[in-house]
Amino acid sequence: MESVGDQLNIIFLPFLASGHMIPMVEAARLFAAHGVTVTIVTTPYNALLFQKSIDHDRNSGHNISIHVVQFPHAEVGLPVGIENLNKCPSHDMVSKLYSGIHMLQQPFEQILFNLKPDCIVSDMFYPWTVQVATQLGIPRLLFHVSSYFAICAEHSVEKHRPHQSVESDIQTFVLPGLAHNIEMTKLQIMDNERFQDRYTEFLRVIKEAELKSYGTIFNSFNGLEHDYEEYYKTVIGVRAWSIGPIWLALNVDAADKAERGNTSIVQEHECMTWLNSKEPNSVLYISFGSLTKFSSAQLLEIAVGLEASGHQFMWVVRQRENDENQWLPEGFEKRMSDSEKGFIIKGWAPQLLIMGHPAIGGLVTHCGWNSILEGLNAGLPMITWPGFAEQFYQEKLVTDVLKIGVPVGVTAWCRSFDEVTEVVKREKVEKAVALVMGSGPEAMKMRKQARELSAAAKKTVESGGSSKANLISLINELKTVKHGS
Ligand code: UDP
Repeated sequence: MESVGDQLNIIFLPFLASGHMIPMVEAARLFAAHGVTVTIVTTPYNALLFQKSIDHDRNSGHNISIHVVQFPHAEVGLPVGIENLNKCPSHDMVSKLYSGIHMLQQPFEQILFNLKPDCIVSDMFYPWTVQVATQLGIPRLLFHVSSYFAICAEHSVEKHRPHQSVESDIQTFVLPGLAHNIEMTKLQIMDNERFQDRYTEFLRVIKEAELKSYGTIFNSFNGLEHDYEEYYKTVIGVRAWSIGPIWLALNVDAADKAERGNTSIVQEHECMTWLNSKEPNSVLYISFGSLTKFSSAQLLEIAVGLEASGHQFMWVVRQRENDENQWLPEGFEKRMSDSEKGFIIKGWAPQLLIMGHPAIGGLVTHCGWNSILEGLNAGLPMITWPGFAEQFYQEKLVTDVLKIGVPVGVTAWCRSFDEVTEVVKREKVEKAVALVMGSGPEAMKMRKQARELSAAAKKTVESGGSSKANLISLINELKTVKHGS
């Protein structure tokens, strides 16, 4: 029998943004389900977002808890409760939130020194955890919230600088050294080097920390990104464990799904009842993740394009603060509601539940990694609509590597989620929707491919699957490290 001394203690430090926090908290829960003693360190508002699931896990006998640290609202000038990026409506609030996160380093460090864990699993935005781990003599694992592909594509661009050999912003070039022929333009790549400021310097520190880490955990699986897992390990040279899709491995129940990440704006039964009345694969789900907010002009183009396509849809809308509420065409909402063609969700949606419903037949995505994984798990063909961060690389993964999606036709990368200005026209929206929701050979091929990936995702987290084996092998290795043998 295992004694208390054999018990592995791991601290998880998620970043204060939903796309980071959701998969990392689920990873923490997965480790706890495998007998590890887990502590998640976060702030009060963020703790509330997943407290129920942690209580549920504790009642099931898992050794998992949340350690709460007060967020310095007063010091940075933010209202109480604003502790997550998706709660920041303005650029000014975003920078205040970053200042607050910077101030949390000291109390977070103190907790690590007090609790003396056997390992730290850290988000990339806490590069300082490398030094703390060294001082404590324990491994620091990085938890990446994007795909291997995006990290490798970015590495290829930084190493070979292929964009420097083209003559215009829209001339395409190939990303060297990758297993697939990936062509992009200068406007699409994640080119932080165009800007030299404190943030780019911080990104350099983050990359250095990645190389100094014991290794990296990815929410991915071998059958999905094999070539890029190999590239990451051999060319970038960091050890890695693919343990995803994590929420599948965790086997979250319907109640967990309904409240995942936030309190939903709609009653779960309301959207499920609406979907229950629809034919299989007949509804397009449109979501741009937890951060992207469009201008009224863009929302109008989406609405008109959707209506013109004639297809049914469920659309999660996040409108910019201070933008006038005139983004819908005349009578649109009433027409959609009367004809039952469209269901609009103005706020947080129970995304996992929705995507898992048989009526959903396609996905419009901003190419956030969580949403892509959720979509492919549901076997959905996609329309890709990237905006910022690594989303343009992930678009290429979906369209050119996995071949389960078509681009809507966004042309330019933005540095931040609150800087998306490009307006994609209604004709492009209509065309992409008609293609993905139609029954032509291209749509059928994508749907078949997405279903095969979905089957592979389910297998990989079961006994005998590679993600399950990787998780167990990582836990065993960390136990060996703890005992110094
Ligand atoms: N999400 C959700 N409801 C929403 C918006 C987002 O449940 O209304 C979840 C979504 O299922 C995913 C995460 O939030 O797990 C968003 O992560 P992603 O990587 O897709 O994008 P990000 O928000 O980081 O841009």
